[in-house]
Amino acid sequence: MHKKKGILFVLSGPSGVGKGTIKEALLKTMNDICLSISATTRKPRSDEIHGEDYFFVGENEFEEMIVSDKLLEWAEVYTNRYGTPRGFVLEHLNRGSDVLLEIDIQGALQVKNKMPEAVFIFLSPPNIDELARRLCGRGQDSQESIDLRLATCEAEMAHIKYYNYVVVNNHIDEAVEKVRSIIQAERCKLNNLSLG
Ligand code: 5GP
Repeated sequence: MHKKKGILFVLSGPSGVGKGTIKEALLKTMNDICLSISATTRKPRSDEIHGEDYFFVGENEFEEMIVSDKLLEWAEVYTNRYGTPRGFVLEHLNRGSDVLLEIDIQGALQVKNKMPEAVFIFLSPPNIDELARRLCGRGQDSQESIDLRLATCEAEMAHIKYYNYVVVNNHIDEAVEKVRSIIQAERCKLNNLSLG
């Protein structure tokens, strides 16, 4: 019994919920899932590496990727643009490898339209106060930007119905374990396996 095709996992949720941390912890213990590296127009942070964290591109290059249909989805997230290169995702799925996207909610909804068979995991904050505390704590955003993120989060929660799973991020270790269990369970689903 072997897998028919790779499974696409979409990990998504409001800004500040801990998607990046969970993704990194997950990848440390799972070497049989490929992470899709996004393209972005955002400037690299001091510890970020081109081709590892993101493909850092200029506005023109990003525009060119859109026009030539090289992106599976793309979205403007708080003033910068981010997109998933289509080629990498499709090649790996066709080869039978599972692929993980860590993207915002607008992007996840686009993937849902194009590839509804993907597995959508919504990472939710325990509550809005905790989200506010985390956004303040990471010291990355101005008060204005935090207020915008909190308001956006409330609107984004309305999209939860399009997802297959919800993981509340109370404790990182537990949330990572839940995401890992979802991935393992999906791999065991009969319709993801080819019999004989
Ligand atoms: P950051 O700039 O902090 O790395 O990421 C900002 C937001 O962009 C996060 O919510 C992250 O999930 C989202 N993001 C990263 N890559 C992509 C992508 O390829 N597509 C979309 N739609 N969102 C992305």
